[in-house]
Parts: sequence; C-alpha cells; structure tokens
Amino acid sequence: MTPLPEDADPRDPRWSIAYLELAHGMVLAGAKAKLIERHTHLPHRRIHELYKALRGVVPPAGPLMQGRADYFALRTNHTSAAWALQCGIFLECYERMQLITKTPLHRGWRLLAAFKAYLSITQKLTEATATKRLDINQAYALLAHTAFLTQTPGAAVKLRRCPACLLKFPTTLSKPLDSQVCPACTMNANLQRLSGQGMKPNRDF
Ligand SMILES: [Zn+2]
Repeated sequence: MTPLPEDADPRDPRWSIAYLELAHGMVLAGAKAKLIERHTHLPHRRIHELYKALRGVVPPAGPLMQGRADYFALRTNHTSAAWALQCGIFLECYERMQLITKTPLHRGWRLLAAFKAYLSITQKLTEATATKRLDINQAYALLAHTAFLTQTPGAAVKLRRCPACLLKFPTTLSKPLDSQVCPACTMNANLQRLSGQGMKPNRDF
C-alpha cells in the first residue's frame, strides 16, 4: 500500500492509483460505501461495481456510525474487558501509523493501514479465545468518537495509558476517569482469581 499524504488531491493523476488501491483495500475489508466514498471520492456507482467485482456482493447497508461512545469504552452487559482491549489495540495501531512518516497521512489510508495491522496483531488471540474483533466500520466509529485521536476538546472517547502495564485503553467522558480500569489488568486479575479457584476462564479471557 503506497502511503497517501493528507493533502493528496484525488483529482491529481499522480495519486489516482493510490486512491484506487485504497478503495480496493476498503472494499476487501468490508467498509460501507459511504465510508469509501468519503475517503476516496469515488462515486457510489463505482464503489458498487468494485464490491460486485471483488467480492460478488453489494456494499453492507446501515448507517455509517455504529455504536455509541460508551459501547467502545465501558464494560457493560454487552461488552467486556476483552472488547475494550481490542478497541485499545486498534487505536494504538492508528496512533502509531503516523510514526512511519513526518508527512501527515490521509485519514482513510491511515484507517485501513491501522485496521490491517490490528487484524494481524489480534489474529492469534482471536483464534485461541474466540474474542470478538472490531470490523472496519466499528473501527471508524470508534475513531470518530476519539476525534481521530486529535487533541479536540470534548472528544467522547480518549486513549489513556495504564500506569501498571503501560497498555493504552479507551476511556469515556461519561464516567469518572478513576472508575475506568485497564482491561488488560482486569483480565489478568480475573485469570489469577479463577486459576486460584481451580476454575477455567470463560471465553472472554
Ligand atoms: Zn494495565
């Protein structure tokens, strides 16, 4: 994948192949048509054709933003520490992707590159534990809740580093920060507690 700078003009013929490459990658990752349209400036009809040609299906339906901010950061009945950990891993991939160059990168390119890195990092964990992973549309929604990890005041989700294990994890503005604990440390503590009781951990661990 050719790194795409933030200011690459999609009408500039020098960037047309990189934009097409980005569109192909996003189709193969299962991105919604609106998301691809927004980042490649390809018309909806062309994205439809690409989906048909590359995957033999039409683009996934539904709104672009899936999931409220709390869904990605809070532990609830529907989410787990393992889910928050997955979100943290993806956000850190996105953050680190900018370190490959001094030139500010195109947001869509960075999303796809970070998503691919995230899938490869979490591959083994997912195979071993059947942990749910983010899809690219959820990854985009999560990023939007963090204001794309910019220093925008009022972003609903922020990335915080755990002082104990140094891993980064998402936190939400809707709850006091000190009540939001690191998912990796939580999982580790649960594992130790369960093994101390001679029990097998559930699939979340
Ligand atoms: Zn930790």
